[in-house]
Amino acid sequence: MTAVSEIRFDVLTIFPGMFAGPLDQSIMGRAQASGLVSVHVHDLRDWTHDRHRTVDDAPFGGGPGMVMRPGPLFEAIEAVQPLAEPRATVIFMSPQGRRLDRALVEELASHPRLILICGRYEGVDERVLEHAVDMEVSIGDFVVSGGELPAMVVIDAVSRRIPGVLGSEGSLEEESFDEGLLEYPQYTRPAEFRGWSVPEILLSGHHAEIAKWRRRLRILRTRLRRPDLLALARLTPQERVWLDSQPLEAAQPSALDGTETSRVD
Ligand code: SAH
Repeated sequence: MTAVSEIRFDVLTIFPGMFAGPLDQSIMGRAQASGLVSVHVHDLRDWTHDRHRTVDDAPFGGGPGMVMRPGPLFEAIEAVQPLAEPRATVIFMSPQGRRLDRALVEELASHPRLILICGRYEGVDERVLEHAVDMEVSIGDFVVSGGELPAMVVIDAVSRRIPGVLGSEGSLEEESFDEGLLEYPQYTRPAEFRGWSVPEILLSGHHAEIAKWRRRLRILRTRLRRPDLLALARLTPQERVWLDSQPLEAAQPSALDGTETSRVD
């Protein structure tokens, strides 16, 4: 799926102050400064009409906690949609949603506009989900206190897929989950640290050999840590045959290179 060249996020939340820090720094800060990504955070309380700016109410049928009222959410979506073109895909952050993974991140990065709704309390009135939301997205099988952190995870992960957001385009290639594989192990100076050396091959200057070593480590590491990914990974038939001949311990970087390292206990 092809990523768009620019993306706009509109976030609906009762805690707009949570977004500034994480999104203003580093890669996300630069992405916004360059105009490739824009993030507009809206306070849901702007669409309440009572003196206390109430966004929640008790659940019909009883039970614990509070539920976000449909009114402010519908009005917010209706007010934010016309702020830009084209129509945004409306996403509700929810532990009941489709679980975020590499494929979903790529799919979302093909949309030029996303509205992200952050739930609080026990969640939102079901009519919002049925009649105003296109997709529910979860960041994993656990519950956090609100949709703000999940929305920031979506914004960050999706923005990385927009061309130009990462400093060098190359950083996307061979990153974990590219081709269904995890990334290879990385080292930097010094070449020897506390008696442990860097795998010799990496100091050899033989680029083709290094590429081969890295590819093998990616495959071995994925088998060891994420066999579920390996089943779908893009391996050549030769690589599959090679892999079958390798013991599980081969995923330890030193095993493929001859340099033995010992662990600190
Ligand atoms: N009672 C709800 C959870 C409410 S948590 C339930 O059991 O399904 C409050 C809000 O946090 C949710 O409405 C959602 O917007 C957000 N949230 C919590 N966990 C999440 C997750 N894993 N992924 C995305 N959003 C989540």
